[in-house]
Amino acid sequence: MGGDQPKKIAIIRCDIVSEACPGVGCFMAFNKRKEHFKEYGSNTEMVAFFTCGGCSGRRVYRLLKSLEKFKVDVVHISSCMQMENYPKCPHIEEIKQTLRNAGMELVEGTHH
Ligand code: SF4
Repeated sequence: MGGDQPKKIAIIRCDIVSEACPGVGCFMAFNKRKEHFKEYGSNTEMVAFFTCGGCSGRRVYRLLKSLEKFKVDVVHISSCMQMENYPKCPHIEEIKQTLRNAGMELVEGTHH
């Protein structure tokens, strides 16, 4: 992730957690280029922020197909999908594999 390269990024997050979380942690970390966004330059844009659609991540494949049109370079899997102190996602490995199969660069984490 070169700091000077323009990039388009997206975040996928947990549908259950989204009931209680407006996503501020993810956006603040991106805006301040902290944690998993440190390497991005000022010309990187966050162009999509969406939930998995609920267990078992039914929306992921369809939305990744849609992102291809917009030439998104990197998809972050939100920290809430990977933490032990939220209900642990039972489908995380399949969701990651769907991302890899779509040929997208995958970063595990956002603000933690
Ligand atoms: S599949 Fe995982 S990320 Fe999606 S709602 Fe279920 S627990 Fe959350």
